[in-house]
Amino acid sequence: MPRPKRHPTHHMYRSIYPLRMLGMGLGGAVVAAVLWEHGAALSDWAVLGLISLAWPQLAFRLARRSPDPYRAEIRNLLVDSALTAFLVPLMHFALLPSVLLCTLTMQDKITTGIQGLWARSLPGMVAAGLLGTLVLQPGFEPETSLWVTVACLPVLVMHSLAVSVTSYRLIRKVSHQNQQLDELRRVDALTGLYGRHHWQEQAEAALARFQSEGLVTSLLMLDIDHFKHINDQWGHSVGDEVIRSMAQLVRANVRATDCAGRYGGDEFAVVLPGQDVAAAHAVAERIRAQAFDTRLPGVPELRLTCSIGIAATDAAHRGVRDWVDAADAALYQTKHEGRNGISVHPGGATAAATAQAA
Ligand code: GH3
Ligand code: MG
Repeated sequence: MPRPKRHPTHHMYRSIYPLRMLGMGLGGAVVAAVLWEHGAALSDWAVLGLISLAWPQLAFRLARRSPDPYRAEIRNLLVDSALTAFLVPLMHFALLPSVLLCTLTMQDKITTGIQGLWARSLPGMVAAGLLGTLVLQPGFEPETSLWVTVACLPVLVMHSLAVSVTSYRLIRKVSHQNQQLDELRRVDALTGLYGRHHWQEQAEAALARFQSEGLVTSLLMLDIDHFKHINDQWGHSVGDEVIRSMAQLVRANVRATDCAGRYGGDEFAVVLPGQDVAAAHAVAERIRAQAFDTRLPGVPELRLTCSIGIAATDAAHRGVRDWVDAADAALYQTKHEGRNGISVHPGGATAAATAQAA
């Protein structure tokens, strides 16, 4: 079955209705001031009444009755523009009110956020302006009196404030959503630890600080032992639970300034700024021992162990990759030696010696 087509601005006409009433009403007051000054004929007053009072009601009913209220409201918005342009000859081209009302109706098209709507409104505006000139045969009276200027103020102020409030809300919403997106991008959904990409950026920064300021930093790589077996024996939900517990253990044992991330499926990585391998080893031992003592509710028979590798920053590391490779080598040594343990990468001395020997 096809999913019903839902447009985000489905019920746009409901929120537009009071705004159109207000805009057309206040705009109508401007035109009324001009007509009053000109001592306009009754027919001109009737045209104004139809446009500023009757049209908003009609527009609302048209949109509500339409099988596609969204399309109907777009049409209504285009009619708004044309009717506003029709007011220009009705006002005998009074300069300030004409420019003001045409600008505001254009602004309305732009602030819908619908691409190109303002351009689509132009032909209708030009046509309505010409039609009004032909039908009404108006005089040319561009001067604006103080009285008409004052009549322009309410619609000018109200419209500007309404647009400002709308953009203010929009800006707040967008920046809030950007923050959420940033959170999603940085944080791993299962564990709440940093995701691999963000973790890598932090590791790069730590390596750069070592290279510029000599701040020794340790990298701790941790991998859960026989995790495939845990998944196979207890199922993936228990597997996920194990990863979450492991992440909690890691977080509980590092400082707020350390950067703990989920590096891969059952693999975690922690950057410990300012910690040499001895300090990092103490942290690793706490994590290893606590993992060993962990009992998951519901599966008390499950034994959780992990293998850890540690590598400190080294002058030979040209990038984070070299550093991670060193910690990984230590991790695989632990796996090789029977798991549930900690190994430290021998570091600069050995690396340099190996390089010389080669
Ligand atoms: P080793 O002791 O050598 O590390 O053995 P292992 O079984 O842990 O091997 P490995 O680290 O390669 O296993 C990783 C497994 O983790 C493979 C994959 O099926 C599983 N895995 C990866 N991500 C998730 C996850 O988000 N949830 C669960 N339940 N399993 C995952
Ligand atoms: Mg593993």
